[in-house]
Amino acid sequence: MVGTLFNIQRFSTSDGTGIRTVVFLKGCPLNCAWCHNPESKQNKPEIFYNAGNCIGCGECAVVCPHGQHVIETTTHRYLREHCTACGLCANACPSRALEKCGKTYSVDEILQEVVKDRPFYEQSGGGVTLSGGEPLFQWDFCLDLLKKSKEEGLHTAVETCGYTKGDIAELHPFVDMWLYDIKLLNEQDHKRYTGVSNEQILHNLHRLDVLGANITLRCPVIPDVNATKGHFTALKNLANSLQNLKEIHLEPYHPLGVDKAARLGKTQAYDRAEFLNKNEFEDLARELQDAVSVPLVIL
Ligand code: SF4
Ligand code: SF4
Repeated sequence: MVGTLFNIQRFSTSDGTGIRTVVFLKGCPLNCAWCHNPESKQNKPEIFYNAGNCIGCGECAVVCPHGQHVIETTTHRYLREHCTACGLCANACPSRALEKCGKTYSVDEILQEVVKDRPFYEQSGGGVTLSGGEPLFQWDFCLDLLKKSKEEGLHTAVETCGYTKGDIAELHPFVDMWLYDIKLLNEQDHKRYTGVSNEQILHNLHRLDVLGANITLRCPVIPDVNATKGHFTALKNLANSLQNLKEIHLEPYHPLGVDKAARLGKTQAYDRAEFLNKNEFEDLARELQDAVSVPLVIL
């Protein structure tokens, strides 16, 4: 069995306890308007094109079997329509204007990478985190990876949007920590900004809570979408309804996804160019912290 990944990041300190290796899986059933990782949405490899790095050498046009690169006197056009993301052009490009994003790995190949940092995990209380995209979109692969990680004695965390096709209780015995994304609590707004209802997401969250799972809520803060008093009040009510909540993480909006989407030949529906400064929502954050009994962390 193989999974499609877009990154394996070592020495992360913000994706669970201690020092961690984060396995980023490709593919997501949601379509968040502000997506911070648009390269994670599709469950297949893609090609980034950074026109600013292109020196017009034409090497990509020479190797492409489908004629997707057109070099004209002063411009290089990347057509994409018949691109299979084989990556030949990215390998040939001397200036990293083209980069392939996405590669398949077996569970054993990932574990070989992950166990390299075992001494750091043991010293810091870290381990392996599955993220994405939505890691559980590749359900069977994740289940196998989690089981084998536990057989290796690793601490495991899963960052999920909670929208799953399988029964989330099946994963619970193999997950030490859930980083559970809550984007919007109003169902109509959730549909509007992510493309799906939040009903199953909230159902799965409460199911994990009843099972005694270790839960941290991860909440993006998006101006004009959920950086509102109404959403933060709903977040407070949700947090106070959970028995096993350990922390709440607020993740301020950043515009890096807008640039990454452009390099994939796409546009983001939500394209604010400025970072969200934590001063802009500190009153909301303070009121939330005062109303819940778990620590609030701004990432
Ligand atoms: S990835 Fe392959 S098919 Fe796509 S443009 Fe590059 S060489 Fe052509
Ligand atoms: S190989 Fe790279 S630098 Fe050369 S034309 Fe293609 S994209 Fe530009």
